[in-house]
Amino acid sequence: MTATIAGFVTRADAGLPDPRSVSDHIQASRGGVAVHWGGNGAPPATHDGCLARWRSWHAFHTRDRGWVDIAYNFGFCNHGYVLAGRGLRVRSAANGTNDANSRFYAAVWIGGGDHDPTDQALDALEWIVAECRRDGAGTAVRSHRSFKTTDCAGEDLTGFAASLDDREVGQRDPVVEQGSYSPPPPAQSGGGLLKVDGVLGPATISAWQHVMGTPIDGVISTPSELVAAVQEHLNTRGARLRVDGVGIRQDGREYATTHALQAYLGFSRTDGRLDRGMSLTVASLQGRLNTGRF
Ligand SMILES: [Zn+2]
Ligand SMILES: [Zn+2]
Repeated sequence: MTATIAGFVTRADAGLPDPRSVSDHIQASRGGVAVHWGGNGAPPATHDGCLARWRSWHAFHTRDRGWVDIAYNFGFCNHGYVLAGRGLRVRSAANGTNDANSRFYAAVWIGGGDHDPTDQALDALEWIVAECRRDGAGTAVRSHRSFKTTDCAGEDLTGFAASLDDREVGQRDPVVEQGSYSPPPPAQSGGGLLKVDGVLGPATISAWQHVMGTPIDGVISTPSELVAAVQEHLNTRGARLRVDGVGIRQDGREYATTHALQAYLGFSRTDGRLDRGMSLTVASLQGRLNTGRF
C-alpha cells in the first residue's frame, strides 16, 4: 500500500477554533501513534459531514469536557482525508493514560460501530503514521485498547494498527503540512524572520525550500524542485497542475501554478501573476513562511 491521501484539512479549513492552550509535553520518540474510532456513529456519507462531525467533537471536548482543544492530534475519514487536530509535537488527551498521552499521538477514524473503514481511510492512517515518524515519532502503532479496557478502535483498526506496529510504512514524498501548530523551523541562515516585503528573493526562496524539504540554494531554477514540490502540494488541495517545476516567477506573467498558489493563500480573486517589485502574493507567502509552514 502506498500511503496517499485525498487531501489535508487544516484547522482553518474545518473551522476549528484555536486551542485555549498548547502542551508540548509529549515525547513521541518513545512511542508513536495510537489509533481510535469515533464510537458507535456511522461514518458520514459526505465529506462535509466529516467536517461537521470533527467540529462537533471539538465542541464536545472543549465545551462539555472543558478540555483546551479537541483531544485528537489527527482525524482520518472514509474519503481519504487527514484532518488536523492538535497536530504534531502536541500532547494528546485521548489515549486514556498519562503515559500513553505523553508518548503517543492520537489518530481517530471519523466513523465507528459496525462499519468498516475504507481503504482510503486506512491509507490516510498510514500517511499519518509516516508523517509522525518523519517528524521523529517512534515506530509503535497501537490500538486504544492496548492502553485501557475499551472497544476502541474496533476490530478492523486494531488489526490494521498491529500490521503497522514497528513495521515499515509506504515510502512517499515529503509532505510539508504538519497540522496547525508545528514549531517554526530552525532559524534560516541569517537568522530571524523574513522581511515581508513582497520580493521573492534568495532568503524567501531558501525559507520556502526549507519548509518544503527541497535542496536549499535560494534560487528557483527552470525547472525547479521547489516549484514541483509546491505543485504536488497544491494538487493535494484540489489543484490540477502538471508537476513540471515551472510556474512561479516574479515576472508579471500569468501562470496556472501561480493561480493555484494565490487560491491556496486565500485570495478570493486570482490573476496568476507575481507583480514585479512588490507582490501581495509573495508578501502573503512570506507571512505564512514566518509561521514555519506553507
Ligand atoms: Zn479511543
Ligand atoms: Zn470525509
